[in-house]
Amino acid sequence: MTKKEKQVIVIGGGLAGLSSAMKLAEQGYKVKIVSVTKVKRSHSVCAQGGINAAVNLMGEDDSPIIHAYDTIKGGDFLANQPAVLEMCLCGPAIINMMDRFGCTFNRTPEGLLDFRRFGGTLYNRTAFCGASTGQQLLYALDEQVRRYEVKGLVEKFENHEFMRLVMDEQGITRGVVIMDLFNLKLEVLKADAVVIATGGPGLIFRKSTNSTFCTGAANGRLYQQGMKYANGEFIQVHPTAIPGSDKLRLMSESARGEGGRLWVYGDSSKSLLNAQGQSIVCGKTGEPWYFLEDLYPAFGNLVPRDIGSREVLRICEMGMGIDGKMQVYLDVSQLSEEKKHKLESILDIYQKFTGEDPRKVPMKIFPAVHYSMGGGWVDWPASDDPDRWTRYRQMTNLPGCFNIGESDYQYHGANRLGANSLLSCIFGGLISGVEIPRYLENLSSSYLDTPSKLFDAALQADIDLKKDILSRRGPENVHALHYELSDWMVNNVTVKRDNKDLERTFHKIKEIKERYQHISLDDRSQFANQTYIFANQFGPMLNLAEVIVKSALLRNEFRGAHFKPEYPERDDENWLKTTIATYDRSTGDPIITYEPVDTRYLKPIKRDYATAKKIKPKLENVPDHVPLPI
Ligand SMILES: Cc1cc2nc3c(=O)[nH]c(=O)nc-3n(C[C@H](O)[C@H](O)[C@H](O)COP(=O)(O)OP(=O)(O)OC[C@H]3O[C@@H](n4cnc5c(N)ncnc54)[C@H](O)[C@@H]3O)c2cc1C
Repeated sequence: MTKKEKQVIVIGGGLAGLSSAMKLAEQGYKVKIVSVTKVKRSHSVCAQGGINAAVNLMGEDDSPIIHAYDTIKGGDFLANQPAVLEMCLCGPAIINMMDRFGCTFNRTPEGLLDFRRFGGTLYNRTAFCGASTGQQLLYALDEQVRRYEVKGLVEKFENHEFMRLVMDEQGITRGVVIMDLFNLKLEVLKADAVVIATGGPGLIFRKSTNSTFCTGAANGRLYQQGMKYANGEFIQVHPTAIPGSDKLRLMSESARGEGGRLWVYGDSSKSLLNAQGQSIVCGKTGEPWYFLEDLYPAFGNLVPRDIGSREVLRICEMGMGIDGKMQVYLDVSQLSEEKKHKLESILDIYQKFTGEDPRKVPMKIFPAVHYSMGGGWVDWPASDDPDRWTRYRQMTNLPGCFNIGESDYQYHGANRLGANSLLSCIFGGLISGVEIPRYLENLSSSYLDTPSKLFDAALQADIDLKKDILSRRGPENVHALHYELSDWMVNNVTVKRDNKDLERTFHKIKEIKERYQHISLDDRSQFANQTYIFANQFGPMLNLAEVIVKSALLRNEFRGAHFKPEYPERDDENWLKTTIATYDRSTGDPIITYEPVDTRYLKPIKRDYATAKKIKPKLENVPDHVPLPI
């Protein structure tokens, strides 16, 4: 088989999908990109605050090793360490690559790249483009991919949705079934490797900071087809979003990176325990109380997000929320004009949606569902593993099906540090771009030899499902079911979890799954039928919701974003392990198993953000030479 006959399908055109497509096309591979939206509108375009890399231009003696240390500690030791280390080592090269592509990073007066601070680190390590970093990165990568489109190497299927992976009798990937979102036509695309880069599942919680097409349905469908889903219980709730009835708009961590402060009015009659277990008074009555600065003197407003969200919730539950509501102030009004200018795009969002000018008055914010640390399980042999070259990084347990970006589970463990996602998306994309050619070279058979009946059967399965959904005539409304699901998820599976509530939520989802069989659609037309499109997504969303809840129910400890007051400590003896969910085809339930976490460089230590200082961490067993994808 010649190289030209080898096709790759990339599902998703966000930062992860585009970097994968670019890397593959660069090597002469033909790539088909499938995306539910125009790739330039992928959710990555919403990313605000920045992208991390220890470029060390701020005279702080920063290094990728310290970045890796911060990331491992920030993720509460649940991330596999070789993947984290290599991502951090590659960070500076990724920033330089994006800079070369013309990404409009902010610069210092001397003309150097500028960096700001973000959560979970004491270093200025976040490169940024004002507060619209995702947009600038996405547009820069899009331009690169367009070059290959012009050369005929990349073909885009925008406004098309991934419905199913086509596998042969040995379970090897041979293509996908996709649906045109205008005429609802189903078709098969053939290839020997498929990359899933479909982003997060925020819509399961309905109100989140995510875009409305972040349904998680692609991963849900793959899970139903046998893909393992890892660490589903780890859902990040961001501390600072605008409370809203339709959607929760993010006020980026960059606001605090530039000096923004969280506060409520103090109440000296109240007290609470700080991170060291000491009782402290809740400020002076009637005066601003900068609670994170008091509770975590070392990191202040830039504690990791899991901690920030828990503290905001705790303060509000003590009745100290602003105007007696579940909200606290995020204040940037005291910042210099220059700093406010760097935040212009988010300050505009706040003003537009609340009518108040955050340059003059503090913003009212509350935590919101934001990101999924969990995702498709992917393999990740380390550089010095003896079997490094017999396995493939970023490949799921379905041979030939890779998973990258927010839709995979690597890199962030139990809590993602701010500005590490954009890095992991681009890095994962580049990695897939070097692993897939190797996978294809070693593959002895091709989709060209696959009997057409296999493709026909896959297509027929989706034709049947479409008929089934369009013909349901029950009393239930799919949007009402979604509201019900999301209320349960937000109430019981976000910042604070409780086993009784998780148990009830699990049963509720089973009930909703049953009722979903009895929906009836208001619109049965065959053109741009949004209700049908959503109804089709809702089935796999329900299955992922079950994974999230059951994984949370079983994990009896407190780690990162998974806070269970009944089990108030991290329990490394029993729970330093990755949760793996597998779909049980006979019952439709998740089967949960576990695998060990790779902690070869740094054994778990206490996660201290109250007193920690800048240190030169020692990572053990780091290989002398780590080949990077760029
Ligand atoms: C408001 C906001 C601000 C953020 N700011 C930052 C930040 O400053 N720094 C940082 O590091 N992280 C940030 N994040 C997180 C980060 O933006 C995301 O994790 C990241 O952009 C995800 O990129 P991705 O390529 O994995 O997926 P996405 O950008 O979400 O792209 C997914 C792609 O898949 C397509 N797709 C989805 N489902 C299907 C399907 N079934 N079939 C076909 N195509 C499909 C979509 O059309 C899209 O092209 C932010 C997140 C939010 C919500």
